Amino acid sequence: MTETTTRSRKSFEPLSLSSPPLKKISLRRGIIYGPVPSRRLGQSLGINLLPTDDKLCSFNCLYCQYGWTKNVAFAPVERLKNLPSVDAVAAALENALTVLGHDHKTIDGITICGNGEPTLYPALAEVIVAANKLRDRYQPQARVAILSNSSTVGSPAVRAALELLDLKIMKFDAGSEAMFRQLNHPAAPVYMGEIIAGLKQLKDCYLQSCFVQGRVTNADPDSVAMWVEKVREIHPLAVHIYSLDRAPADKRIERVSLTTLQWIANEVRWRGGVRAEVF
Ligand code: SF4
Repeated sequence: MTETTTRSRKSFEPLSLSSPPLKKISLRRGIIYGPVPSRRLGQSLGINLLPTDDKLCSFNCLYCQYGWTKNVAFAPVERLKNLPSVDAVAAALENALTVLGHDHKTIDGITICGNGEPTLYPALAEVIVAANKLRDRYQPQARVAILSNSSTVGSPAVRAALELLDLKIMKFDAGSEAMFRQLNHPAAPVYMGEIIAGLKQLKDCYLQSCFVQGRVTNADPDSVAMWVEKVREIHPLAVHIYSLDRAPADKRIERVSLTTLQWIANEVRWRGGVRAEVF
């Protein structure tokens, strides 16, 4: 999964020739990164549980800021091969929190995100327990969060791990299986019905939904109506609505305007009965 960093509201003005170019981003090079200014999470320290040389993901989203997925998995990988141990993650996090303490800096969050889909990490619950303890000791005001693509939320073990977090921010971009496959290109055994069933069982989750146009669009009235219906069914605490901020894997995909994002937010508020925020 990928985080959206702070940017000027001007970036969401209706598209014109003067729209700023989309930035490119590199893979995270270590376990801990930041703090990064996050549009949704404030100053947030990132945890990358995944490989540093290639994205590991169950999706191949057209808009992914890390390019196309070559390293595919659709369930938590069995071994920690090429992945940091829980002890290594805890040590790296403690080191980063100690440095912040020495510098008298406070953060708003610790976010598990990184180079792909973090719930593919096989010892997610142990990492979250360790992160919660370190948060309590060093930065008790910070919320421990995850940005997930929701692909594994059908698994009871994954849901149990997610419930240990303060914030579960789960991807949900499409209102039909066809749009899900066109936009997110899930690994074959991942289906939208299972994702919706899993999200409905999560307590107090947030949805994050990226809208794009171009070769594929999920921002037209029919696609939005189907998406609103599913969001209403899931009934999250709120939906975070946004568009491209970084260069997408598919160069024929474009950012949608702020006006369109605000219209989508109003649709989900009034037709879906769910809080929505545009980022
Ligand atoms: S879920 Fe999509 S956007 Fe997130 S890392 Fe995977 S391919 Fe990229």
